[in-house]
Amino acid sequence: MKNKHIESIELYLLLCQVRVKYIPDLISGGVYSPSARTILIDENLNVKQKMFTLLHEAGHFIDYSTNPKSFTNASHNIARRKIEKSQKLSLAQKRAIIRNETKAWKYAKGLARQLKIPLGKNFEKDRKESLKTYRQLESED
Ligand SMILES: [Zn+2]
Repeated sequence: MKNKHIESIELYLLLCQVRVKYIPDLISGGVYSPSARTILIDENLNVKQKMFTLLHEAGHFIDYSTNPKSFTNASHNIARRKIEKSQKLSLAQKRAIIRNETKAWKYAKGLARQLKIPLGKNFEKDRKESLKTYRQLESED
């Protein structure tokens, strides 16, 4: 299921030549691949989660477009995979990930404002909870 806000985010991404694909059971909820110019979204998310995830991944796209170097080796997907495999990340990698994630949320918010999408409290909650998982990285050695 989609709503009109999801459709306007998709239209924005279409104009930016970024593809959006919905696939079942995507572990991380959403992923942006700069090389494929594609955003993958877990199709099993509810409408609100889909909208937030799409905004967040669009945020990664905007971040990558404005500063491609900062994205290298620090996508949250890579981070998640490493966390799952309990692989060590360097402090520099951890900081780059946190920086990228913070920026993706910031751009997500800006895009929502541009597209006149009301976000409500759940967005803030999701943003904070998502960032918290990455901040925990920093405290681990
Ligand atoms: Zn992210």
